Amino acid sequence: MSITENYQKIREEIPEDILVIVASKTRTPEEIVEVIEAGATDLGENYVQEAEKMKQELGEKADTVRWHMIGHLQKNKINKALPVFDVIQTIDSLEKAQAIDKRAERADKSVIPVLVEINIGSEDSKAGVKPEEHEPFEEYMEKLIRDISRLEHLRVEGLMTMGPRFGNPEDSRAYFRRTREIFEKIRGLNMLNVDMKYLSMGMTNSYRVAIEEGSNMVRIGTAIFGPR
Ligand SMILES: *Cc1c(COP(=O)(O)O)cnc(C)c1O
Repeated sequence: MSITENYQKIREEIPEDILVIVASKTRTPEEIVEVIEAGATDLGENYVQEAEKMKQELGEKADTVRWHMIGHLQKNKINKALPVFDVIQTIDSLEKAQAIDKRAERADKSVIPVLVEINIGSEDSKAGVKPEEHEPFEEYMEKLIRDISRLEHLRVEGLMTMGPRFGNPEDSRAYFRRTREIFEKIRGLNMLNVDMKYLSMGMTNSYRVAIEEGSNMVRIGTAIFGPR
């Protein structure tokens, strides 16, 4: 099947109120143009420089979609990232958030929506806040998000998680459920300058389970473009 057919099939399958972020790493500008023309509204990029280059190659088409940073954001790339991305999904510490706030102030960027990334499996190989290192975790997350909420140029809009990768997506269910619980808990606090509206979880092999567990933002690459 073509990229267009794949995207449209997924879009038909997934309820309308769930956002599909097209994970575009390693794909060509031609492939990205095709998925935008098929109706994609949101793209996820893992690297600042790749995203910057892709936007240049797409020209005006780039402005017809929203750009999400879904890869680990290094501090020394924040300046470059700010004009490129509409959303940063990978905030993993107060220090990172403060660094973004400071640079956004200088770059005259009014407010950048961000998600806090949780490394729900506490895996060493992955970025994100690790529950194992911050027990009791819900209290830690509440404090972290409260601290970020005081920064003028950031607005927390939810949580993101990768979750451990399993052959069987059912094995991810408990991790997604736990992330959802944390999400609901924080949402219930109705913090000032926090709008907990997105729970970003689920990829090609796990998005169905993630949606059953409350995800409203899935990030999909392989099922749209084929294997990398
Ligand atoms: C690559 C990637 C995805 C999409 O993965 P697929 O298995 O290709 O659907 C989602 N989220 C992040 C952070 C990624 O890097």
